[in-house]
This record gives sequence, C-alpha cells and structure tokens, in this order.
Amino acid sequence: MLSVIIPAYNEQENIKNTACVISGILQQAGIDYEIIFVDDGSKDSTWAEIISAHEADTNVRGVRFSRNFGKEGAIFAGLKAAQGDCAVLIDCDLQHPPELIPNMYSMWESGAEVVEAIKASRGKESLFYKLFAKSFYKMMKSSSGINLDGASDFKLLDRRAVDALNELPERMTFFRALSSWVGFRTEKIEFDVKPRAAGKTKWNFTKLFKFAVNSITSFTNLPIHLITAVGIIFGIFAAVVGVQTLVNYFCGNAAEGFSTVILLILIVGACILIGIGVIGFYLSKIYEEIKQRPRYIVAERVGEGRKGEQNERTDRS
Ligand code: UDP
Ligand code: MG
Repeated sequence: MLSVIIPAYNEQENIKNTACVISGILQQAGIDYEIIFVDDGSKDSTWAEIISAHEADTNVRGVRFSRNFGKEGAIFAGLKAAQGDCAVLIDCDLQHPPELIPNMYSMWESGAEVVEAIKASRGKESLFYKLFAKSFYKMMKSSSGINLDGASDFKLLDRRAVDALNELPERMTFFRALSSWVGFRTEKIEFDVKPRAAGKTKWNFTKLFKFAVNSITSFTNLPIHLITAVGIIFGIFAAVVGVQTLVNYFCGNAAEGFSTVILLILIVGACILIGIGVIGFYLSKIYEEIKQRPRYIVAERVGEGRKGEQNERTDRS
C-alpha cells in the first residue's frame, strides 16, 4: 500500500479537489493507497473538509494538530501515521503534479528506496524569493555538502526510509535535507512547479527566514567555525597592528592613530557581537532540543487506517 501524506494549513478550498484528483489517479493506476491529511492547526474549515473527504472515501484519513506547528511537524506526523509500504509527500495545493505519483511508484517497485522529485523550473515566484532560495541552497551546499538545488518536499520514501526518519530523536528537523541524509538507493525525477490550485501561499518573509536559519543551523556547524576563522584573522591583524603601535611608541610618535583605534574598536566589537549571536543561536537550539518537547500535539484523528489501530503508541511525538 502507498501512503500519500498531505500537510494542510488553511487549505479549505483544496482538500476535496486534492483528495479526488489523487485518489482518481491512484485508482486508475491500480495502486492500493491511503491518503493522510495533516491539518496543521488551520483556522478555517480545513478539518471539516477532511472529515467529509473521509466520509466520501474511507481511504482518506486525517490528523489534526492542536495548533499550527509548521509544515515540518505536519510532515513528520504524516510519516508516523503512514501504514503503507512506501509513502509519498505532496503539497495540498497541487503545485506538485500528482500525475507523477504512479511513475514514482513504479520506480519504487523496480528498486528505488527514495524517489526525489526535482524542480525543473520553479514556477511563478517573485525575483526576491528566487534569489533568497538560491543563496540559501548555495549556503546549504557549501556548508553541509547536500545539494538541494531544485529539491522539494515532493518525495517518495520506502518504509525503511520512513522508519529511519521516524526514529530520529531531534525536534528541529529539515525534511528536505534529512531525506537525503538517511541515504538509501535514491533516484530523481523532474517536474515543473504549477501555480497554486486555490488559496494563497502560507509563507511570508519572516517564516521563510526562520525556516532558512533553522535549517542551516540544524544541519551544519559551519557558522560557529566561521567565527573561529574570523577570530584568527583578526588575531593576526591585531598582532601586526600591535607591533606597529609599539614601534611608534618607542620612536616617540604615538600621538597619532586615534582613527585606527576607533576603527579597530568598532570592527572587533561588531565581530564579537556577531560571534556571540551565532553561539547564542546554537545554544538556544540546544536548549530547544534538551527540553524534549514534542514536535507536534495531535488533537483529533479521523479514519483508523487499514491496520486498525493507528500504528502509534502515543499521540505525542
Ligand atoms: N503548510 C503547512 N503548515 C504551514 C505552512 C504550510 O502544513 O505552516 C502546508 C500547506 O498547506 C501546503 C504546503 O505546506 O500544503 C506548502 O505550502 P505553500 O503552498 O503555502 O508553500 P509554497 O508552495 O508557496 O512554497
Ligand atoms: Mg504551494
């Protein structure tokens, strides 16, 4: 069985259509499936739509969060609830073409354990967004070695990869990179991003920026090492300037050079502050992880799944 996991946040216009389109495609391809909607604390009638989608087709199941925990939490809740032999993650707005699922499924049948759908084109996005995404991916690549160019959350994962992800203990996750971090036989397939079926994008700049910083710091320690590197460079610089100052002092022309002092204080001060900021950021992440808070809290569920009992021991994860 194939589990289709769909995170949904304020997607009332899309639920019914998305469920129909995906189940239509899978039925036509003769694939046994379940669809799991994860309602990420929507404020509109998304949950009611999910319930009625379940009533129309019992292959549709739903998990509802007690509040908005973010797409990452929704993805992991879906992975936990999935009972299939493999799982596909797809957006609710049909920007990821569901027609591709049967292809991905047949790649899985012929041995692929992770099938990543790569964006051949990025669809309609503002120049600013494109630039932001590009520099973010560049940073991720140079710092963690994982190439995310064109990567999306549209992926098929074998049960083994799903289990591996479910076992990860960390709270701060970055699914897009983690799915390639777990390894396994990976194949790629290309797709073109389509415009949203309905509704508006759920991201704004603050949300995106937070997502980017979180992803980078949860994947690499490079920013912390950078501080050390900058510190060493400034140390050398300070030694040179120090020698020069001493020479000046002993030659008796020490009165000059106030501008250098001011500049040095400013630059070094700024570096120290940035450094403390970065260390503070990692510290706060350690703090977050150490609290061992759940990634999400489930408020309600609809649909039991084929294996009867939901395959989770607890609602908190
Ligand atoms: N989403 C979510 N929680 C959030 C934000 C988004 O579950 O806090 C879901 C949303 O419902 C959609 C998917 O993540 O299914 C992608 O969101 P969106 O289409 O807004 O992002 P974009 O395609 O613009 O990057
Ligand atoms: Mg979208």
